[in-house]
Amino acid sequence: MGVLIPVGDRVWVVPGSVNIGVLANADGQFILVDTGLNDTSAKKALKAVREELDGEVVAILTTHAHADHFGGNATVVKRTGAAVYAPAFDEAVLRYPLLQPILLYGGADPIDTMRGGFMLADASPVDVVVAPGAMDVAGVAVAAVPLLGHSPGQLGYMVGDVFFCADVVLPERVLEKYRIPYLFSLTDHLKALQVARSTPHRVAVPGHGAVLEGNALASLVDLNLDLAHRVVDEVLDLATTPQSATAILEGLLQRFGAPVTDAPSFYLLQPTAFAFLSHLHREGLVNHEVSDGRSLWTRV
Ligand SMILES: [Zn+2]
Repeated sequence: MGVLIPVGDRVWVVPGSVNIGVLANADGQFILVDTGLNDTSAKKALKAVREELDGEVVAILTTHAHADHFGGNATVVKRTGAAVYAPAFDEAVLRYPLLQPILLYGGADPIDTMRGGFMLADASPVDVVVAPGAMDVAGVAVAAVPLLGHSPGQLGYMVGDVFFCADVVLPERVLEKYRIPYLFSLTDHLKALQVARSTPHRVAVPGHGAVLEGNALASLVDLNLDLAHRVVDEVLDLATTPQSATAILEGLLQRFGAPVTDAPSFYLLQPTAFAFLSHLHREGLVNHEVSDGRSLWTRV
C-alpha cells in the first residue's frame, strides 16, 4: 500500500512527524513542500514519488528553516538535482544550518549538545529566494503566503485550493506535549494567525498533524491564539515587580509545566520568553531598564 494521500488536483501529502507535500506539473514532474528531518524522510518521499507516481522531483519548496522541515533537502538535491526555493532570511539558515543553534543560544558558539538532531540539519543549497505573492515553480502556480513569527521568514504556500500552512498552528497534541511552543516573534505570529484564518482554502496541510478540512484550521488558530494569550497573561503577572527575563522564563516553565530537561528544550524557550517581552514592550505593556548591571522587565 502506498503512503501518498491525495488532497487536491495533482496535490498529495506524505504524512509523517513532518508532513511533506507533493505537487505535480503538467509534464509529470514533481515538487516537494518541505523534506522532513533527514535522509530517512527524504528517501521516503522520493520513493513515494517514484513508485506511486512514476515521476521525478525537480524542485523543493521550503516553508521555513527549522531542521525538521528542511533536513532532507541535501539528500533530495544530491539524488535529483532539484532546485530549492526558500523564504528570504530563512534561506540563510538553510545554507548555514549552524545559525539555528547559534540564534537559539543567544548568538554564541552553541554548547555541543545543541549540535545534533532537531537543532542542526545538513546544509541545503538555495536556488530561489521566495517573497510573498504569486510565482511559478517548475510550471506549477503557487502563491506564497506570509506566515512570519514561528520563524523570521516562514511562508505558507497555496496551490489551487490546498493551503500548506507550515507551523503557523500546532496541533493540540503538540501543544499538550511542549506546553509553550517556540516563537521567534509574537508580534508577527499574531498577524500570521489572522492571515491563516482569513486565507480561503478547501484543505489545509499543517507542518505537523492531520490534514485540516472545513473550519478545522480556524479552530486550531483559536486554540493557538488562546495559548498565546494565556502566556501573555502569565508574563504580565510575573513582571508585577522588576524581573530578569531569566526569572520570567523560570516562572513560565513552572506555571505551564513545560518539560524542559536539557539544553535544546531550554534554549528553544529562552528566546520564546524574549519574543513575548519584545511584543509587550512594543505594545507599551512592560518597561525595560538596565539597572545595577541587570536587565529588568516590569509591567506598566
Ligand atoms: Zn518549525
